[in-house]
Amino acid sequence: MKFASEFRDPALARSLLSAIAARADQIGATREKPCHIMEICGGHTHAIFRYGLDKLVHEGIEFIHGPGCPVCVLPMSRVDECIEIAERPEVIFTTFGDAMRVPGTRGSLLQAKARGADIRMVYSPLDALELARRNPDREVVFFGLGFETTTPSTALSIQQAAREGLRNFSVFCNHITVPEPIKALLDDPDMLLDGFIGPGHVSMVIGTHPYDFIPRDYGKPIVVAGFEPTDLLQSVLMVLTQIAEGRAEVENQYARVVPEHGNAVSLAAIAEVYERRPSFEWRGLGEIDASGLRIREAFSDWDSERKFGVGYGAGRQPQPEPEGCACGAVMTGRIKPTACPQFGRGCTPEMPLGALMVSSEGACAAYWQYGGARGLAAE
Ligand code: SF4
Repeated sequence: MKFASEFRDPALARSLLSAIAARADQIGATREKPCHIMEICGGHTHAIFRYGLDKLVHEGIEFIHGPGCPVCVLPMSRVDECIEIAERPEVIFTTFGDAMRVPGTRGSLLQAKARGADIRMVYSPLDALELARRNPDREVVFFGLGFETTTPSTALSIQQAAREGLRNFSVFCNHITVPEPIKALLDDPDMLLDGFIGPGHVSMVIGTHPYDFIPRDYGKPIVVAGFEPTDLLQSVLMVLTQIAEGRAEVENQYARVVPEHGNAVSLAAIAEVYERRPSFEWRGLGEIDASGLRIREAFSDWDSERKFGVGYGAGRQPQPEPEGCACGAVMTGRIKPTACPQFGRGCTPEMPLGALMVSSEGACAAYWQYGGARGLAAE
């Protein structure tokens, strides 16, 4: 298939839905005893709701919306640390737009900007580098955020700053990794997961082998998936087929984009610039071992945490979630967004209480956008 329309072909979608129904019946999945499939990536969550796939698939298939939106899993304490850096008079703090409204204990970056902090939206770390070149008397900080998808571009900006000797540029590094939270979820004895839809964009960088532990150590299938509706339906079918045949493997539905061994150039940049943190805090999930990256000593001049004495290594304190916020329970599949007492009441996209309502890829925002008040009433 060459064109997007082919990936949205209704006839193909209908035949995939029939095949999914047959497989779901074969494994005995019912509304009362569903097969739980977690889509890890926030982009997949958004696509599932956008195309109504959760409503179209067999009633015995339940999608669990995993912790794959980096804005959603950013804890309050890290937002606080951003604001602590951004409010320094010498700093120009740069960030992608979707991080502006994530709430911390002292409000969001948008509110800090309204209070007078010099916070600017950028489209890439290269924009932040250019700001640093044009403002040699200011400290330009880039808010490095995201999974393996965005990690290489931040690494390249640090390498470029080092080459140029641009010492008024630094990165507040919040890059996180996908395999470790999956492991943490699988280690949770309350977790009911039968299989995974693996992230497409992350896997373009890391390939498919970092997921080998899922079938090997936990006996669960995972299928790396694309983002079109037929990609997702085919991936659900592949997961169900593995279950029906008693197999658990890593399969690659998105082979047109995802190379088995990942992207060598990106992986080399990641390896040169970052090392693993012993642990990193995730909103709703707590500290997860080795799930975050920090900037290596060799690039310490470009590390905002070292430069401004904040964050890990500076006596930081994790902050509890706001009262009544159920983001952690939603992200681990324990409840649906509409079951959160704040959904549509104390928490809407305009006035988010929790992070899952902030980013368009967050499960709560997706429920609100594509179900909204109807979804609330349906509950
Ligand atoms: S409705 Fe708001 S507070 Fe509740 S889980 Fe969703 S984002 Fe969190």
